[in-house]
Amino acid sequence: IKLKIVDIPVPITIGPAFEGETIRKKDAWVEFGGGRAPGFELVRMCGADQVEDGKIEVIGPEIDEMPAGSVFPLGIMVDIYGRKMQGDFEGVLERRIHYFINYGEGLWHVAQRDLCWLRISKAAKEAGFKIRHYGELLLAKFKSDYPAIVDRVQVTLITDAKVIEEKIAIAREKYQARDARLKGLTDESVDTFYSCTLCQSFAPNHVCIVSPERVGLCGAVSWLDAKASNEITPTGPNQPIAKGQCLDAEKGMWQNLNDFLHSASNRTLEEVNLYTLMDRPMTSCGCFEAIIAILPMTNGVMITTREHSGDTPCGMTFSSLAGTCGGGVQTPGFMGIGRRYIVSSKFIVADGGLGRIVWMPKELKDFLKTELTERAVALGLGDDFIDKIADETVGTTEEEILPFLEEKQHPALKMAPLM
Ligand code: SF4
Ligand code: ZN
Repeated sequence: IKLKIVDIPVPITIGPAFEGETIRKKDAWVEFGGGRAPGFELVRMCGADQVEDGKIEVIGPEIDEMPAGSVFPLGIMVDIYGRKMQGDFEGVLERRIHYFINYGEGLWHVAQRDLCWLRISKAAKEAGFKIRHYGELLLAKFKSDYPAIVDRVQVTLITDAKVIEEKIAIAREKYQARDARLKGLTDESVDTFYSCTLCQSFAPNHVCIVSPERVGLCGAVSWLDAKASNEITPTGPNQPIAKGQCLDAEKGMWQNLNDFLHSASNRTLEEVNLYTLMDRPMTSCGCFEAIIAILPMTNGVMITTREHSGDTPCGMTFSSLAGTCGGGVQTPGFMGIGRRYIVSSKFIVADGGLGRIVWMPKELKDFLKTELTERAVALGLGDDFIDKIADETVGTTEEEILPFLEEKQHPALKMAPLM
């Protein structure tokens, strides 16, 4: 093992020891993104002449102009030039931002893309941490951890509310283009899935299995990302697993995936099904974008998101649900998922698929609207299926939403019993 010791010019301590550190709202000097203000992060592959190595630019207020307890927008743009860099590596390197920032004492980062949410603690601010130090941290880590593909790096940090609107549009176009590349790929069309064990630093027995039609539950690691990550670091957290013998096509169980899971979960898990939440489902670490949970009275399931802080019909908010099903254990009936898995044709197929969804926050409906409607039509659920799904404006208890589902003749009511 090659140990890399990098001297990063920031006034806080950097190291994996701080990865699990949480920063509560009351301890935060400033907070970014998280649905409270716009936020995004983007790694772009650029030409040699487009990247000035080592350049860090802050567009908008620095931390000294941010009052204690304030909320600001934040855009993090990392431009990389490398002779061996590939477009496919962008998403992989972008996910590293999450880890690198969490290495900083007094820095906290969750989620990714335009959903990211960050805090800088009061202690870090008092130690002299500035917005531009995010740039120092990212520059140093990208160069030290990926010397084979990263030759030049520049970082732009945007805290200006106007400028961020323009840049976030660039980022969203990129995210869409990346997602579109996956579209033609199905789980059947490949013979290899990938593991992801990046989150074992938080949840030591957790293993994500990433297939073309099931994104990692953080939403940031697609099958293409895992494949690219394995090309960059063959011994790294994303290992190819040839599916091997299929044990259950409907629930999605393969012999080789079970074998891999057994050793990678430190022998705490033996079997996993990819397409159900009821029977030996995938484990959840802690950074899921959304959680799916059964609602027995409605014979369906609900989904809530990290962005939705309100009550839900299962009686728990996102954070209490996260406490129930996180940590790398299988919890039948509850599962952390990436948002995009919801519109996958492999979405809990063994449990009845998309037609099982009876409740989700309004924001998630809007986020998935086009694709969810396409999927609903393809499944014969009708182009108005999304309107049959209850949300917080209909109710936040099973009793409140049931009359709505009955009135709308929601398909879940007529499906085979879920339990
Ligand atoms: Fe990897 Fe899963 Fe963690 Fe995402 S949630 S980084 S896919 S282990
Ligand atoms: Zn995780």
